[in-house]
Amino acid sequence: MIEIIDGEAVASEIRDGLGDAIATLEDAGVTPGLATVLMSDDPASETYVSMKQQDCEEVGIDGIHVEIDPGAPAAELYETVEDLNANDEVHGILVQMPVVDQVDTRRVLRTVAPEKDVDGFHPENVGRLVAGDARFKPCTPHGVQKLLAHYDVETEGAEAVVVGRSDIVGKPMANLLVQKSAVGNATTTVCHSRTEDLAGHLGNADIVVAAAGVPEMIDGTMLKEGATVIDVGINRVDADTEKGYEIVGDVEQASAREVAGRITPVPGGVGPMTRAMLLWNTVKAASEQAGIEVTLP
Ligand code: NDP
Repeated sequence: MIEIIDGEAVASEIRDGLGDAIATLEDAGVTPGLATVLMSDDPASETYVSMKQQDCEEVGIDGIHVEIDPGAPAAELYETVEDLNANDEVHGILVQMPVVDQVDTRRVLRTVAPEKDVDGFHPENVGRLVAGDARFKPCTPHGVQKLLAHYDVETEGAEAVVVGRSDIVGKPMANLLVQKSAVGNATTTVCHSRTEDLAGHLGNADIVVAAAGVPEMIDGTMLKEGATVIDVGINRVDADTEKGYEIVGDVEQASAREVAGRITPVPGGVGPMTRAMLLWNTVKAASEQAGIEVTLP
């Protein structure tokens, strides 16, 4: 019998646990603050940012939102981030990616103060994660780790295949799975668009993390019997629905469910965990900056 990994339920437990940590901080006079910065005219980015602000409000994090005219010079974004770095009420800063063309993305990532970098994209934080001393784990792979832990998926000694090598999902995911630590110790393979025999790798995998952004590219015939399948993909495909589209993952769910042991649905799997872990990182940032110890879920 396939077990469906319920990301909504696990995310909701994490948000509840964060509520306790936030109460501890509040008692000490500290309200965690997350600043989101948007310099884009992409409607999807606007939606993502407003969802993040709504999440903050629900758990008791102060949300500050700064919107910069997409036509403004890049310096306006760098200066905004520097102002937020200096603002004591802001514990976490998230610049919504992708930013407009005139902005140097790497420079933005370097400008965010590492201790406020709740996305975990600053080179210092990337380095710390690789070195096994993570300050902030990027939200999506961190959320996947939480799901694996919650469902008691044995990672130690397991063959894990991560499909995708982006800086936000694939690489940090592989780095976490390979660490000599809890929810790590996996024998980890990273596949990408130049991988010659993807099906061969997947066929050996006890754990698959699919993050390629290619609709339903992995089907049941490619999977090992009983594998745990974590589908990170969020892909919009044309469909005969009211909106004219539907969201599918990178895994073809029907055939995968006949073979896999556990699987995340799309939507309702990794997505809610990514959102919850941003809140988690923000509460951690606030606790560390204020020097107040809290128990994180
Ligand atoms: P990117 O486009 O940055 O990276 C995709 C990766 O997949 C690349 O490394 C690419 O290889 C690899 N790839 C592409 N096609 C294939 C293929 N046919 N076979 C093997 N590998 C392939 O995407 P992201 O990492 O940002 O996101 C991946 C997916 O996850 C997207 O659908 C995105 O929407 C979703 N996502 C979901 C989140 C959630 O919360 N659920 C959060 C973040 C992303 P190469 O490097 O060679 O180009």
